Amino acid sequence: MLLSNELLAEPQPAVAFHWLRVGHCKGPEAMARQGGKLKLIEFPSYVGAIHHPYHGWTLFDTGYSQHFFDATRRVPELLYRSTLPVTLPEHEHLPRQLAALDVGVDDVRRIVVSHFHGDHVGGLLDHPQARIIAGGSGVQHALSLRGISAVRHAILPALLPTDLRDRHDPVEGFAEVPIAGGPAAGGLRGWDLLGDRSLLAVDLPGHMPGHLGLLFTSGGRQVMLVGDAAWTTRSYREAKPPSRLAKQIMHDWDATVATLQTLHALDAAYPDLLILPAHCPEGAEAWAAGSPR
Ligand SMILES: [Zn+2]
Repeated sequence: MLLSNELLAEPQPAVAFHWLRVGHCKGPEAMARQGGKLKLIEFPSYVGAIHHPYHGWTLFDTGYSQHFFDATRRVPELLYRSTLPVTLPEHEHLPRQLAALDVGVDDVRRIVVSHFHGDHVGGLLDHPQARIIAGGSGVQHALSLRGISAVRHAILPALLPTDLRDRHDPVEGFAEVPIAGGPAAGGLRGWDLLGDRSLLAVDLPGHMPGHLGLLFTSGGRQVMLVGDAAWTTRSYREAKPPSRLAKQIMHDWDATVATLQTLHALDAAYPDLLILPAHCPEGAEAWAAGSPR
């Protein structure tokens, strides 16, 4: 790969960032990473809460919520919850954690959705005023599925706001910024969400249609939230794709593997970059260890 010397042509204006744990499910380690064990481990769902001094609060995903439990009470949706049992302790509810940061539900101006799996969009209904930034194909795909075929794709239609189309800002409508030289140089496509390059949505194809990450600078570090483009830190460090078990739920397997290899290369090339998968406790510890208190 011919990654450019710089991740970005110019430094980014800094934002404040909180990486919040919002519930977890249990599944076999072997699902997340080829070579992993069969024992059950916790997969927490992390949510990014980002504050820009002028543009206010942005969320990256929303984790689990009470709506998730309501939406999975009956068959066929119950199949989702019984395959991967979910726990959401009281103190991890997102509205509660946001309130502790002095953020009201309507203070959230925009939510960047990595993809529309139930564990990432559980809290969309709690923010009826927020704009929803997502890949165009991701929204189309999520809205096209019903009943058992939705559940087979881990989509829970009851979690999608009825005005999703009206509040959706397709990421493709924002100005493009190349990351690490852009795709032609082995890097990635980025989109400038706030017009000052402080928040760059990142094209991370494969896991689901329109799958996105988010790149910003906080606490003196460059941080890339990668959603489910990697399930654990080890997966991108060792460039180990998910198991064949998980292969069935990937939208595009070849793109999933290629994106993981790109993350592996970025991690090796830019030691200051912290890559945070949505379900990785090790990543959350690495952020907490280096973040200002
Ligand atoms: Zn997920």
